[in-house]
Amino acid sequence: MSTAFANLIDGEQVDSTDRSRNINPSNLGDVIGEYARGTAADADRAVAAARRAFATWSQSSPQQRFDILDRAGTEILAKKEELGRLLAREQGKPLADGIGEAGRAGAIFKFFAGEALRITGDKLDSVRPGIDVEVTREPLGVIAAITPWNFPLAIPAWKIAPALAFGNTVVLKPAELAPGSPWALVDIVQRAGLPPGVLNLMMGPGSTIGAALASSPDVDAVSFTGSQEIGRGVAEAAVKAGSRVQLEMGGKNPLIVLDDADLKVAVNVAANGAFFQAGQRCTASSRLIVTEGIHDRFVQALVDRMKTLVVDDALKPGIDLGPVVDDRQLAKDLEYIEIGRKEGARLAWGGERLTRDTDGYYLSPALFTDTTPEMRINQEEIFGPVAAIIRAENYDEALKLANDTPFGLSSGIVTTSLKMASHFKRHAQSGLVMVNLPTAGLDYHVPFGGRKGSSYGPREQGSYAKEFYTIVKTAYVAP
Ligand code: NAD
Repeated sequence: MSTAFANLIDGEQVDSTDRSRNINPSNLGDVIGEYARGTAADADRAVAAARRAFATWSQSSPQQRFDILDRAGTEILAKKEELGRLLAREQGKPLADGIGEAGRAGAIFKFFAGEALRITGDKLDSVRPGIDVEVTREPLGVIAAITPWNFPLAIPAWKIAPALAFGNTVVLKPAELAPGSPWALVDIVQRAGLPPGVLNLMMGPGSTIGAALASSPDVDAVSFTGSQEIGRGVAEAAVKAGSRVQLEMGGKNPLIVLDDADLKVAVNVAANGAFFQAGQRCTASSRLIVTEGIHDRFVQALVDRMKTLVVDDALKPGIDLGPVVDDRQLAKDLEYIEIGRKEGARLAWGGERLTRDTDGYYLSPALFTDTTPEMRINQEEIFGPVAAIIRAENYDEALKLANDTPFGLSSGIVTTSLKMASHFKRHAQSGLVMVNLPTAGLDYHVPFGGRKGSSYGPREQGSYAKEFYTIVKTAYVAP
């Protein structure tokens, strides 16, 4: 009998007879726990609790909010090994990456503890004599945070922390595939001293709980991270309900490698960006756009590097890639590998199911060459360790290809030319631009988000987070 984990509504643990089993993708015999699957009615209760709690939490002092968030950050950092291990076990990313993500979640809480103290306003003279104008920021209300499975600690952290710092209350709806890390995070933040109802956890199916939150007229804002398909429906429902909405969604991120690139840098940047964390990062570079003069050398060197990548149990030391997250993702990756073959691309390396000591969803990273931009493998987000090389004649064509996608999250270039790097920074149609760095791997204190079909609404993270989590008031005062 495995341990059961309940939802948190109004400060109370609320269990459910319906539960999902959280299975380790590196070892299918390892059940991490059973996690409650709430109902739409539970979601309504959580929203009502958050609404009641808002009355007092929105009036709490910045010092009180600083203390709680700072305490939570301290405990997350103190437990980063334990949390990172849980994350690696339930999601399949290498242990070092799991610990890194836990450290990031702790740092995010520390950062937003400080932000609670830094909220400012403006005082101006009116255009009318004898009148003052004050512009202040106030808490927005009840925030629904809907999150994916690929960063199950960091993404809930970067939504919960700013929401609480600016005086809002929260209902968190994490992804069903990795509920353990968000459960542990909520437990820590709650114990740091939050009054009941300020933070609520609603685990369960997206189609019922996520949909109930997105369409609730009692929710003031919905912050969603996940796929484009689901995100669009969330936005429609939220707008209909009159809620503010923010979406961070998929990507088909390009990495350009120019003739003048340092080959070693190019290979490291491409291998990391395309394949690490099994390609299950929204910022992963799945399109490698390579100019003629370096193309053949780059392909050879990247394939040589791929042969050295160790794919094994996420908890084993020294691995490069863990398994993919579940059977559905594995089937999707294999299907796209087949689609690529049928479209006429050449599978240069990988794309095979692997067996290891334990039964898990192991897949060798796959690289396609001789691909064309319109192939489905270059247009659709696969979300696995699968990358495609597109040959470009020169920089101008590479830039055109890089921008030729409905997505616009992250894009990168490997070059030793300052001129090319500067031009690319200016002309890449993406929210994030990387020069001689992988398209994935970000700081926690600066804004994050994309353009075009990848994002909707204001940026997340850093001091820009206040644009979403506060509402502006303009007061006119005649003394
Ligand atoms: P998903 O869209 O399937 O699910 C995301 C969340 O939405 C989950 O909590 C899910 O339960 C919930 N949900 C499902 N159906 C819903 C509905 N009808 N109404 C409301 N909520 C619903 O995404 P996923 O598979 O968990 O995550 C992978 C996707 O997330 C990829 O597309 C990836 O690119 C994207 N992602 C984007 C970012 C970013 O910041 N841009 C970061 C990480 C992941």
